[in-house]
Amino acid sequence: MKNKRTLDKLGRPFTDLRISVTDRCNFRCQYCMPREIFGKDYPFLSRDELLTFEEIARFVHALAPYGLGKVRITGGEPLIRKDVEELVAMLREQGPGLDLAMTTNGSLLPQKAASLKGAGLDRVTISLDSLDDEVFMTMNDVDFPVEKILDGITAAEEHELLPIKINMVVKRGVNEESILPMAEYFRGRGHILRFIEYMDVGSTNAWKMDEVVSAREILERIQAVHPLERIDPNSPSEVAKRWRYRDGKGEIGLIASVTDPFCGSCTRLRLSAPGELYTCLFAHQGFDIKGLLRGGASDQELADFVFSLWARRDDNYSQKRSQSGPSDDGKVEMSYIGG
Ligand code: SAM
Ligand code: SF4
Ligand code: SF4
Repeated sequence: MKNKRTLDKLGRPFTDLRISVTDRCNFRCQYCMPREIFGKDYPFLSRDELLTFEEIARFVHALAPYGLGKVRITGGEPLIRKDVEELVAMLREQGPGLDLAMTTNGSLLPQKAASLKGAGLDRVTISLDSLDDEVFMTMNDVDFPVEKILDGITAAEEHELLPIKINMVVKRGVNEESILPMAEYFRGRGHILRFIEYMDVGSTNAWKMDEVVSAREILERIQAVHPLERIDPNSPSEVAKRWRYRDGKGEIGLIASVTDPFCGSCTRLRLSAPGELYTCLFAHQGFDIKGLLRGGASDQELADFVFSLWARRDDNYSQKRSQSGPSDDGKVEMSYIGG
């Protein structure tokens, strides 16, 4: 029997689970679910293919005793999964000390923030790629205005889903001019703005290296106006490099997944909406958890399955990409596996 001390082949422990609760989304961000592919004929999963909330909670329950400290609910857009706050409440029951977070595009937070907090969600990460409506609408491709995301952020503040992190994916020629305005807007507001290098997830976003704006360039653009200094990570597995404004107006994070990969400290598993477990964001293949859950596996059998998989894990795609370039096909889509 494997246990919480199980390390993978690169010496990494398991601490962190991301759960995608739907492969659907009300946005069509070009870098994630381009409209040309995810159109009205796209074969999204049907309701009965998805794991139920009971099944998800059962899986978390089985892993909770083995070093699982953090669960993030994601998607697709998690807030379009009906009654997702019921799942939050069920996960909260698995452990009062579990760090329970959600990544969302924020569009439905004005309606949902209160019930999420009431159900026991600790905090949210909200994605926002620009404060300029024209840029943001081009990126979300459903004409969704910035103002409504800001309303979502306000709702999260009011209901203390804190600390709030804001994710901004930066794509060359699309929103690099939004870097400084975003930094200036969130400076002093107590939220942590995190800049994410555009990644080659999935096989549909036609990623090219020259569309990546490096974390270094992002930092330089902000540093030129607002001096920053490096600060220590909150935990060894934190993916963002933290920098704080020298004038005390808060901090930013830089997620250099492409130019400075962090596979060496990657302690995550991802559970897809239909119940497959992935050991890497760039994996081609998942492992069937739904079959185990529906086939009557015990908690111990579930944990044994996961940790024997973990013991065989040797993923380090981003590091390999740095050495030999991107692999171009068969990777699972981010909206499916959960970003
Ligand atoms: N719909 C939710 C949202 O947008 O926050 C949750 C799912 S989304 C897949 C999770 C995160 O992945 C978002 O912050 C999004 O911006 C980021 N993301 C999606 N595609 C990406 C890409 N190609 N490169 C970098 N980040 C990406
Ligand atoms: Fe939807 Fe989030 Fe992907 Fe945008 S990044 S398409 S909001 S899942
Ligand atoms: Fe983790 Fe895979 Fe990303 Fe490396 S490429 S940090 S192993 S998810």
